[in-house]
Parts: sequence; C-alpha cells; structure tokens
Amino acid sequence: MNLNSTGKQLDVFDGKARVLHTGTEFGCVHPSDSNFANQFERIREISGQDRILAQKLGFNTKVTPISGIDELEQGKVENFFRTPIVSDGVVVSLTGDTLMKIAVMIMNADCGTIEILAPNGEIAVLHGGFDNIDNKDGTSIVGNAIKYFEQKGFRPQQLKFRVGESAQACCYGLNNPAYQSQNEARRDKMVQDYGSDVVRPVRNLPRSENGGIGFDVSLIAARQADLAGIRDIEVEGLCTSCHGLVSSTMGTLDSFGTWYSNLRENPVNTKTRGYGMRNAVVVYSR
Ligand SMILES: [Zn+2]
Repeated sequence: MNLNSTGKQLDVFDGKARVLHTGTEFGCVHPSDSNFANQFERIREISGQDRILAQKLGFNTKVTPISGIDELEQGKVENFFRTPIVSDGVVVSLTGDTLMKIAVMIMNADCGTIEILAPNGEIAVLHGGFDNIDNKDGTSIVGNAIKYFEQKGFRPQQLKFRVGESAQACCYGLNNPAYQSQNEARRDKMVQDYGSDVVRPVRNLPRSENGGIGFDVSLIAARQADLAGIRDIEVEGLCTSCHGLVSSTMGTLDSFGTWYSNLRENPVNTKTRGYGMRNAVVVYSR
C-alpha cells in the first residue's frame, strides 16, 4: 500500500468523516478501465472500507437515502455497489443508526463533491457539477438534500456543508460560440441570484478561448447553502484543472497536474477509449 500515490486524504467535519481524493499519480479509477478491479482494491485498502457505493451519475438533482444493501445493485467487482437508478446524490449514515453505513465514491474529473452532515450522523454525498446545482428543471441537488434533512426534522442551522476540490473559475467556464446567448443568460441569472463574484472571465486555456465565461460552481453551491440557512460552510479552493501544472503546459490537451481533468482531456482520445480518465473521491466514517 502506497499512501503517497494518492492525491489527498483529509479529515472533515471535526474528524467525523474522512475524504480520499485520488489523483493522477494513483491512476485512473473508472469501471470501464481494464485495471479497475486492482484500483478498487487499492482504494478499499487505503480507506479501510469493506463495501463501497458509487451512485450512478447523470447530472441530475436526485438525492436518494440508502437504508440497506438490498436497495443497491452489485457492481462490476465484489464489494462494489451501485444505485439501481441514476441519482447524483445519496444519503448514508456515518454511524449506521438510521441509514446504511457504507463508504460513498464519486468518480469525477473537475466536478466538486459536496457533503452535508446532519447531527444524527446522516451524510449526503452529492455530485457537484454545474448542472447538478443549476439544473434545467429549475432544481438544485443542494436544495434537494437540504429539503431531505428538513423533512427529517432538522433545521438548516444544524447542518454542516462542505465542497471539495473542483475546477475553479480560473479554468471552468462556458465558451462555445454557438451557445453564446444561453451562456450569457446563465451568467446573468447566476449574478442576480448569487452575487457578482460567482462569475469572472476564464483565465486559463482551453476555456479562456472565445472569451469563456468562468463560473465559480463551488461558490454558487455554497451560496445556495447559505441562502437556505446553513451557517457552517467550507469551500475547498484548489482547482482540479490547473493545480500542479505549470503555465507552459496549460494549453496542451491530455496534460494533467495533480488530478485528472475533463477540461484538459482530448475529446478525441476519450471517444476512442470509450471513457474519460477519472479520479475517485471517497467519503467514509472515521
Ligand atoms: Zn484552474
């Protein structure tokens, strides 16, 4: 076991939970990758977790509480479980008292992972992409998770919120000229709802081309939590796209720093391979 080959491990929520964020040195974590079984075993060993749940992702805002193993699907390898339906958010328990106690893994490349902890040990683990928090159907995965906890009798002031590393506005934005008017409308809506500081020009290639509009997705998610009444909010500011890169390689596709980044991956290679390079973010009880 080589702990140094992971991207980052840290204790969160006063040491109640731990987050492991693998990176490029650890290698790709994707169920379609031929080395997946081995990578999955390494993650189990490093995290000390027996069973791991990875919800099926589809950039939706669904949040599903998990009560037991019979609600899950067996995944590609032993001890690897999936949600039967696409649900970008799940709620599990750090203690096993009210919901299932199981580690949750999101295989990502730029999207932040959001965790919301309730006083009873229930933790929501959410895919934090732009469409998750600002969906076309008008909902947000953050709002839906808070609603879940409110229905269980908790007030937002009792919840703790954090969002991990993600592509920040230095790199992430929308710059497709074909969608310019939609992108500008989305910018105006974000500024109106969450403040002028959630939007700024993209600084780094490739999205700085064509005047990319940069969105600070982590900050938007945090503002949603704040507007809902959560007071304990933590935002990790590291950028998954440019962290660990030097400026001379910024414009080169398939050049990765600390983390695999969808922004930096050559779409042609992704298409040929059939899947994108992924990090794993694993959230579990300490
Ligand atoms: Zn960046």
